Amino acid sequence: MTIHHGTLSYLDPERPEPWASFIEQIDRVAPHLGSLAQWVETLKRPKRVLIVDVPIVRDDGSIAHYEGYRVQHNLSRGPGKGGVRFHPGVSLNEVMALAGWMTVKNAALGLPYGGAKGGVRIDPRAFSRAELERITRRYTSEIGIVIGPDKDIPAPDIGTDQQTMAWMMDTYSVNVGHTASGVVTGKPIALGGSLGRHEATGRGVYIAAREAGIRSGIPIAGARVVVQGFGNVGGIAARIFRENGAKIIALQDAESTIANPAGIDIPAALAHAAAHGSLAGFFGAEPLGDDDFWQLECEYFVPAALEGQVTPQRAQAMRTRIIVEGANGPTTPAADDILHERDILVIPDVLANAGGVTVSYFEWVQDFSSFFWSEEEINARLESIMMKAFEAIWQTAQERKVSIRTAAFIIACQRVLAAREQRGLYP
Ligand code: GLU
Repeated sequence: MTIHHGTLSYLDPERPEPWASFIEQIDRVAPHLGSLAQWVETLKRPKRVLIVDVPIVRDDGSIAHYEGYRVQHNLSRGPGKGGVRFHPGVSLNEVMALAGWMTVKNAALGLPYGGAKGGVRIDPRAFSRAELERITRRYTSEIGIVIGPDKDIPAPDIGTDQQTMAWMMDTYSVNVGHTASGVVTGKPIALGGSLGRHEATGRGVYIAAREAGIRSGIPIAGARVVVQGFGNVGGIAARIFRENGAKIIALQDAESTIANPAGIDIPAALAHAAAHGSLAGFFGAEPLGDDDFWQLECEYFVPAALEGQVTPQRAQAMRTRIIVEGANGPTTPAADDILHERDILVIPDVLANAGGVTVSYFEWVQDFSSFFWSEEEINARLESIMMKAFEAIWQTAQERKVSIRTAAFIIACQRVLAAREQRGLYP
């Protein structure tokens, strides 16, 4: 019998390195941090990294091993917080960067968390539901020594969903001997999940775009929008953009790229993707080449897939006014410079996609108090936190004459490093 194990990330040949992008972003903010800059090295090293072996029995009876991670990048302001990714491209380098971006995101929004992230290096589509449950449970058990409601709280990310969180919550609870609903967020409502959490990231992307549009004189109503990624972030953002009068002229998912200058029928595209697993074969639009996709003339471009997508070459070719980063780390630092020169406004991931973790915070608070809020209340609080963060970051960008990304990093890194300084070093 041939046994197929997962590949090991440190043998991965030529993957772009997201951690290098994160370090570059930290280097760019350091000159703006005043005396706190003496602590900046803190952010260039993850506090704690855990690599775990995830062995399972496959449905055919064979034994297979996969590589899993949980990285706690920083815990100065509170417990770790950040999602768990199941994707074949997951590597220690990627999870470190994603954890770093969570530190910055949580601090930029003022959420009382540090930053963390996890992942398992698998293609979830290649496994049965029962195998995925075994992978999830074994992974959760292995990282059980570092997670917990007041230690580090995972959530969904690419390749994981409510069901994954239900298995994680159950596994952790069984291991500690009592129901600990606050150990993960993004759970099903019946297990202590929050209303509005499923839509929150996409809704936050829309709020960030709307606020950017108001300040730049580019209204959403009537705008042409291009979206890369059609999952929980891109799909929901596209729907809300359309509900607010925008025209989604092109979409790309892992399998296909489609365009319709008259505007794609998003509810129909969502129904197609739900039924077939991707946009492939959707009739309401024409197929489009990848290069053409990146060069479409539009007002808003929403990269909502993986990191490293907006490369310098694409940044040179793009014909959009505003980029709203639904994904984490979609723009490389070199591409950022080109966009800045070309006067294309970038609303960075640490602000634009923070709606998800903001409602995760609400879920965690509701679990602790066992008192659940209405969806109206959740959406109103999400609006208020996002708008306050947006305004503060926008103001900082104007005052310091820096990009929105650098402004978000200034505010966030000041908060993290002030906490670091006030706590002091032990011993
Ligand atoms: N995975 C999401 C993110 O990248 C959500 C994290 C969370 O809710 O903890 O922000």
